[in-house]
Amino acid sequence: MPQPKHQSNETIIYRVAVPSPLRRLFDYLPGADQQPIAIGSRVLIPFGRRQVIGVIAATGSDSDFEFTKLKHIVTVLDRVPLLPKSLLDSLAWAADYYQHPFGEVFATALPAKLRSLQADKKPDLVWSLTARSTFDASLLALGQAKRQKQLLQFIAENQPVSPRAVQDAQFSISLLNQLAAKDMISSKIAEATAAAEFMATNTLAAEPLQLNKQQAAVIAAIEKKLNQYACFLIHGVTGSGKTEIYMQLMDQCLRQGKQCLILIPEIGLTPQTIARFTARFSAPLAVLNSGLNDSERLDGWDKARLGSAAIIIGTRSAVFTPMKNPGLIIIDEEHDSSFKQQDSFRYSARDFALVRARAEKIPVILGSATPSLESLANCKAGKFELLTLDKRAGNAKPASITLVDTSETAMDHGFANATLDAIKMHLAKGAQVLVFLNRRGFAPVVSCQTCGWIAECNNCSSYFTLHNNPRGLLCHHCNSTRPVPKVCENCQTTDLTSVGVGTQQIEAFLESQLGNFPVIRVDRDSTRRKNSLDAKLQLVEKGEPCVLIGTQMLAKGHHFPNVTLVAILDADGGLFSADFRGIEHMGQTIIQVAGRSGRAERRGEVIIQSRHVSHESLQALTTRTYSDFAEMLLKQRKEAALPPYAHLGLMRIDAATVNQAANFANRVKKCAQELVAANGYITDLIGPLPAPMEKRAGRYRLHFMTKSPHRAHLQALLTQLCQIVEDANKPASVKWTIDVDPQDLI
Ligand code: ADP
Ligand code: ZN
Ligand code: ZN
Repeated sequence: MPQPKHQSNETIIYRVAVPSPLRRLFDYLPGADQQPIAIGSRVLIPFGRRQVIGVIAATGSDSDFEFTKLKHIVTVLDRVPLLPKSLLDSLAWAADYYQHPFGEVFATALPAKLRSLQADKKPDLVWSLTARSTFDASLLALGQAKRQKQLLQFIAENQPVSPRAVQDAQFSISLLNQLAAKDMISSKIAEATAAAEFMATNTLAAEPLQLNKQQAAVIAAIEKKLNQYACFLIHGVTGSGKTEIYMQLMDQCLRQGKQCLILIPEIGLTPQTIARFTARFSAPLAVLNSGLNDSERLDGWDKARLGSAAIIIGTRSAVFTPMKNPGLIIIDEEHDSSFKQQDSFRYSARDFALVRARAEKIPVILGSATPSLESLANCKAGKFELLTLDKRAGNAKPASITLVDTSETAMDHGFANATLDAIKMHLAKGAQVLVFLNRRGFAPVVSCQTCGWIAECNNCSSYFTLHNNPRGLLCHHCNSTRPVPKVCENCQTTDLTSVGVGTQQIEAFLESQLGNFPVIRVDRDSTRRKNSLDAKLQLVEKGEPCVLIGTQMLAKGHHFPNVTLVAILDADGGLFSADFRGIEHMGQTIIQVAGRSGRAERRGEVIIQSRHVSHESLQALTTRTYSDFAEMLLKQRKEAALPPYAHLGLMRIDAATVNQAANFANRVKKCAQELVAANGYITDLIGPLPAPMEKRAGRYRLHFMTKSPHRAHLQALLTQLCQIVEDANKPASVKWTIDVDPQDLI
């Protein structure tokens, strides 16, 4: 039986989203001034023994608690809500859909400076009279309060004034607060006063290119729907002119005074994207990514919110940027898994963008040379419109692909002879070469040749990677390190050797083989310092012959016009992955890396090394098109009832001991079984099973999967289940998270 609610007709109850792991809103009474507060405003509230910043998510007239037990809002931080209703609604959807606490969803959407109470991180506020016209009345109302009157006078003469200026003029901050409480003055974020909306005229800095037929057809399809919600998927091979299409459509939006939001998968692509957009547009641009400090981020965010930035470029979380006049959202490389956040609030920026675009009534464009199976399925279902570009724009010709069978050939440090010869030949012709190996370090394994012992991380179910600089063993999963052992820990012989190759090893090997040609390695270890990736890429941009060695980082979107050979050293990792998306990701990576070559006049060549050259996926990729490859995978997914033909919710449970994790997981499963039975949900319950990496950083990990062909069934089940699990008693060491539409199952 639900408890009767406490009700009132006079008092407004504010439901506040608080940054806490609890999946609920918290009820509060109005502040002392009784001023109505708009939904979407930040408020300072007592929460436990602290004061925290929350956001008003809803209002009501009832509560589960007696009103006398409720606390009052301390301060209203925004008189005008920070977030427009369209964005608030989308965030509410996300909290629901991803089963994530509303307060933490807000926390992700707001810049750090707007979430923090620390004085040095507070936004710069400036104060003005609420209304000029009531100035005299205010003075009168203040009666004998001499200092307040003086301060009001001071503000009237100097507005807008910062708190610092107030203090410099020998007034206290509490005086300021007293006037604010009487609603005689109000504050704004300082930048707000300076910002003006961008000018919609004259946004072009350079003439657009003459479109080819395919490009023109794509633009014609999209421009019909520029002022309504619609989702387009541009499947265009690398270099087919997708970016040119984006820019011409952006131009149409900017001319209407509307803002464009462009999401890119990787922070490293920011400089190149900025360069292209600033070459084309003279409109103001804001960048939002993790490379900014808190002030810079707030600055860019405000410019977008207030409409003074015309173009907003960012990585995943930029999808939450408020916009005054939104016109278009573009997600470049939409297949990229970086658009899914892999911890805490596990949202997909791509999927959120669709919900957001619908709320804003604007179109969203997804672009990729290798669209995700999800998006292709959405095209088949009629939810997205598929637009295809199958030719490279300009002069570049498609690259030729050769498979090199490495099961029979002798290999030297990861290279077949044919591959090494091709590298030398391309360099000799003055071109650049890209060598792709998605394995950083020197070697993936150190092992004993006598007994087969392998150096394994104590904290994780995984092997240590051998690194050269600094020399030592490193676990890529928990970052623990140890010196390289001198003797086998099992048989005590000194017969230890490294097995397999990583990027550091092929760097050393190629340096020994290629004489004076520079070898440039780009991976997480070599680009840790700020701007070091940029510096390395600048070397490549010079165009001199060189070899570029890279991991996943390089597979994304970079332009390397002088690269004419791409060598993929090991295509097999993805073919036999424990993750059902392994093959999809392998195929996307191969096509993406291959797309880095021969973008200018010279025809590119791609070499793929594999021990399984006749595998149907490799064959489909290399002898047919990506569409054929994707079609084949979609068929397999349908037969196996896997996404996109089924929806997954993955509960990850981990604990200090196997037993604690298993006990809790089994209770969760029992609870899920009861919910499924009671409500007739068509949902499979799978597991609990050990995670593919059962132990990580010293914790035991289990997976409990829920799977349904019906989104609504899955959502209803997860909502009920998460609430019950959240309220359940459990040992402190047990942790759980829920991942809706998980991207990786590790
Ligand atoms: P994508 O984004 O699909 O990889 P881009 O838009 O970057 O493709 O275009 C690839 C290259 O082709 C760029 O150098 C671009 O300037 C050029 N290009 C694009 N469209 C045209 C066109 N219509 N005519 C001539 N060159 C074009
Ligand atoms: Zn041994
Ligand atoms: Zn480890």
